[in-house]
This record gives sequence, structure tokens and C-alpha cells, in this order.
Amino acid sequence: MTLSRRSFLAHLPLAIAAGLIGSRLPSGLRANEGGRSYPQPFSIGELPYEQNALEPFIDQLTMKIHHQRHHAAYVNNLNRAIERFPEIAEMDLVALMKNISAYDSGVRNNGGGHYNHDLFWQVMSPAGEGGEPSGELMDAIDRAFGDMETLRETFNQAALARFGSGWAWLIVRPDGTLAVTSTPNQDNPLMDLIPEDEKGTPVLGVDVWEHAYYLSYQNRRGDYLKQWWRVVNWTDVNRRFAEA
Ligand code: MN
Repeated sequence: MTLSRRSFLAHLPLAIAAGLIGSRLPSGLRANEGGRSYPQPFSIGELPYEQNALEPFIDQLTMKIHHQRHHAAYVNNLNRAIERFPEIAEMDLVALMKNISAYDSGVRNNGGGHYNHDLFWQVMSPAGEGGEPSGELMDAIDRAFGDMETLRETFNQAALARFGSGWAWLIVRPDGTLAVTSTPNQDNPLMDLIPEDEKGTPVLGVDVWEHAYYLSYQNRRGDYLKQWWRVVNWTDVNRRFAEA
């Protein structure tokens, strides 16, 4: 990334509007460097901060491998998986999630992997720069959980109880209330095949695949979760809550 973080953030709304960040390019086809055109509607995007910006809570090598290898692989595999489903090139990622039962496991796993990681990078920011929950979000947290500490405990418990690989989420349900849920693998609460009471719009999510924490925390998922709250980007969570 050539822009400084501050400069990058200053241009973030413009970049999002131009489709440079986020989920897909406006056109369904894109030429690769060799000039061959092939369907590649989804792209990985840049991290919204430097790879080492979340240290010491999430180390640089973990961020590098997680973004450039794991997330990149989901995007590449998604672009390959949708070759048989040309209509997906015209869908945005949220619409794809909400219709995921129409497609095969390659689209489900890699589409979920792309959506989940794209959200994950955005809901984190360097420690001390993430702001605070807005008044509206805080009211909703109080109504659903009683207080912030109980939200954290409930969320960490869901993340710890997820056997194997998956995610824990804070979601807005269709009735506007907040809830904590967890999904296996690369599923997420937007997917139409998720049980009704676990569905909603994610406003915060944490990756509890071992690749998200193993280099620094090894098997200590609970230690990772405890530290992870230090890098939550409440400014982004507030925005997601307001738009949900
Ligand atoms: Mn991951």
C-alpha cells in the first residue's frame, strides 16, 4: 500500500464509492496481466491499515498470511467456483449470501470466506483508534445484554464454544434487536440456509479459525479473544448498526 494510513482513510469513502474496496468490481469481466479476459468479479481489496498496525494484539505475519494467502485463496476459488453461474457476476456479495442455498459448496465456502474476511478487516483498527459504541448501539447493547461486559462474555463464550473452525457474530435481527450467534466453517448469519433464530445482519464478527491466532496464541483461543477486543473498530460497527 503506497498511501499512508491517514491518507488512505481520508480517501476511504471515495474508494468505496468507486468500488475499489469491498466486494466486486462494477464490470463482470476483467483482463488479467497477460491480457486474457476471464470472469473475475470479486477482488480482495487492501487492508484498511498496515499489516503491523494491530500489533501486539494481532501480529504482522498472521495478518500477512491471513490476508494475502487465506483471504486471497477464498477470492480466487470463488472466482473459479462461479464460472458455472454467470448470474453471480451481477450480484453483490450480500445478495449472494442471501441466496446461497441455490449454489454448491464451492460458492458457499469461498463466497462466505470472502464476505467474512472483508468484514473482519473492516471491524478492526489499531488499538486506541477504534472509537466507542454510539449512543444508539449502546442502548441496544444494554437492552439485549444488560451491559458491555455481558456482551463481551456472551460473545467470547460463543466463540469459545464453536468446535473446530468458524466465527462468532454480533447481529441485528430482523426485529432490530441485537444477538450473539456463531457459525461453522465460512457460513455467516446472512445465509438463507442458516436457522431462522441465528439469522441477521452482522455488525461485528471474529474469526476463530486457528489460522487467525495460532502464531501468537497457539491453542489459547480465549487469550486471543480477550486481546481482540482491543482492536475492535467501533466506528465501523456503529456504521453497520445504523445501516442494518
Ligand atoms: Mn480466516
